[in-house]
Amino acid sequence: MLALDTPLSALPHTQRFLSKLKKLHLETVRDLVYYFPVRYEDYSAVRTIDDLAPGEQVTVQGIIEEVEARRAWRRGTAIVDAVIVDESGAAIRATWFNQPYLKETLRPGRHVSLSGKVSLSERGEVYLSHPTYEFIPSTSSGQAHAVQTKHTARLVPIYGETQGLTSKGIRFLIEPLIGRVEATEWLPEPLLEKHAFAEMGDALRAIHFPDSLEEAEAARRRFSFEELFLLQLATLKQKMALARANAPGIKTDIEWLKEALGRLPFELTQSQKKSLWEIIQDMENTHPMNRLLQGDVGSGKTAVAALAALLAARAGFQSAFMAPTEILARQHFETIKKLFARLSEDEVPAVGMLAAGGAKAFYSPELEGDLKRPEFLEKLERGEIAIAIGTHALIQKGISFKKLGLAIVDEQHRFGVRQRAALLARKTVPHYLSMSATPIPRTLMLSVFGDLDVSLITELPSGRKKIITKIAPPSERQATYGFAREKVREGRQVFVICPRIELPDEKEKPLDPRALAMLEVRSVKEEYEKLAKKVFPDLKVAMLHGKMKPAEKEKVMADFKAGRADILVSTSVVEVGVDVPNASIMIIEDSDRFGLAQLYQFRGRVGRGEHQSYCFLMTASDKKTENERLKALVAAKNGFELAEHDLRLRGPGEFLGESQTGLPDIAMESLRNPVLVEESRMAAKELLAADPALKKYPLLASRVEGFAKKIHLE
Ligand code: ADP
Ligand code: MG
Repeated sequence: MLALDTPLSALPHTQRFLSKLKKLHLETVRDLVYYFPVRYEDYSAVRTIDDLAPGEQVTVQGIIEEVEARRAWRRGTAIVDAVIVDESGAAIRATWFNQPYLKETLRPGRHVSLSGKVSLSERGEVYLSHPTYEFIPSTSSGQAHAVQTKHTARLVPIYGETQGLTSKGIRFLIEPLIGRVEATEWLPEPLLEKHAFAEMGDALRAIHFPDSLEEAEAARRRFSFEELFLLQLATLKQKMALARANAPGIKTDIEWLKEALGRLPFELTQSQKKSLWEIIQDMENTHPMNRLLQGDVGSGKTAVAALAALLAARAGFQSAFMAPTEILARQHFETIKKLFARLSEDEVPAVGMLAAGGAKAFYSPELEGDLKRPEFLEKLERGEIAIAIGTHALIQKGISFKKLGLAIVDEQHRFGVRQRAALLARKTVPHYLSMSATPIPRTLMLSVFGDLDVSLITELPSGRKKIITKIAPPSERQATYGFAREKVREGRQVFVICPRIELPDEKEKPLDPRALAMLEVRSVKEEYEKLAKKVFPDLKVAMLHGKMKPAEKEKVMADFKAGRADILVSTSVVEVGVDVPNASIMIIEDSDRFGLAQLYQFRGRVGRGEHQSYCFLMTASDKKTENERLKALVAAKNGFELAEHDLRLRGPGEFLGESQTGLPDIAMESLRNPVLVEESRMAAKELLAADPALKKYPLLASRVEGFAKKIHLE
């Protein structure tokens, strides 16, 4: 028996393919047998040569009569022709391209099994074009042996291929392992029974070499369930570990809060109040809060988080308020200053902000000053800064808080898992609040983020107007520019988001991120030149892209915010989460290339002030599915509706970042299946309730551990 952890380099039959296997990230026997087919080709119809019709997908088996190599006269492509005769006495020609060595391989007299599509030549004869071939051993009397074929005469698995390693090669590598690998069942027996799943070993054979599509489907279901189940166990276990950790109980003076809320610049919405209340209750607990505050851009998440930090400060605890960029950190500093403006001097805690260029702090609405970095760190250590705002650099080594009670992470697209891990390493774990404007579909919420509690802000502050969204085909481009110009004349500002670069063969050959970034920059520069020189030579056009230095970016954003530019052309990768209430027009180029969730995010950059705002979805596409997506954006009532839509259409990569999660493909795929997600969650919950340490299932326990290490959702 072959252990699943055996490195592929230790097997004889894989030697020639090791570098290719590595390219597919396949390094152990487990990796390889878990490399599942993407689909199957049905070659199970074995037919005699006298009984073939063009267009059919068939297998014929016979003896090679002659083989000939030639070159196509136009392009010089190497062509090999073979003639095969079978028991019906009829003959058929088979043709291969670009494989001149077949002339030597397909020797006359050998028994061969050929699978492929029956084609019709210009001369009206049927032939097999580029069929898959497989030799069948002959008996001494010259008859073909009845053998189990691998590549022909059956349902044949097709795999994700790479240069130099075809599905046929992958079959050659996997087939000898099936039946030999140590396929010890690790799913609990009652689960197998309840769901009628095949045992591990059978399921492996069935998914690679099924007798029927139904059998393959059933096996795939088992493996999907298995990954989701591991995911659920991993997240639930993390939740349980957190529930055991110690955190400071932070008590809120409710009477004071009620009164102080009346002195904010605005009244909190119902959702904001409810969320704040949930946070207050969590913080009182002596186990750490792990809560996600979710709400549209501009729904007032920052205000809620700032109030939580204020309450912590009043109870004697410090807060770390982390934003993804310095621009946003600065903005939070300003927002909080305004929020606390009408509180009295002894009610306002010291609020500081740490940036690369230096730090500053305010101690009361009137008293603000710059600080040197070492001064800032000292104050933090002495507990003289109660609310510290910055990037995630705030919790890096060498920075210490006197009494950290609350960590807030804003807009961390993937929910700051790394930050959370850093915080968890502390003896007393601070309460943790993350904020996101990305609506997460319920299925993902239950699985990938199953360890988080969620507070939802479902309404926007009153007085905001609904953004008018329009799909704009090329014929409306000039009118759109005209409209934007008019709005600029009225004093408004405009965002232009440039297309995401997506090359046609991106799927097969992922472009390295640096090359991709360069392409993005080029597209922004081109768009900028066009707008600045040709379309709006009379207006001030600015540009923002990911290759700019942080200081440059900051300056561009600050200028735009201060109204020193009318139009900002930006890549999609740049964080434009900055609050510019005066911007009322959002133009999204090639909008059909973006996911709905992302479009929704972009649109949220406008409509943040009192002005009526507009979003133009530029598209040259006349593909029905793409236009339907854009229409969904126009019609959608809220972000969650769109997120569900996106999950169905584009899969979870849109939310989690494809290939970066460490989640196996099959898990990514299964996340689209709400029923299976629900079932796996129930099963995981039941199991952990009865046996929290998984003592009864040591094999399962070690799989969960390995799984948790492998995934890195951030
Ligand atoms: P988010 O963080 O959810 O994007 P912010 O907290 O930055 O939203 O709020 C966006 C803007 O709305 C800020 O200028 C903020 O001061 C303001 N705001 C927040 N809550 C309210 C409210 N209840 N009523 C009016 N304005 C609000
Ligand atoms: Mg925000």
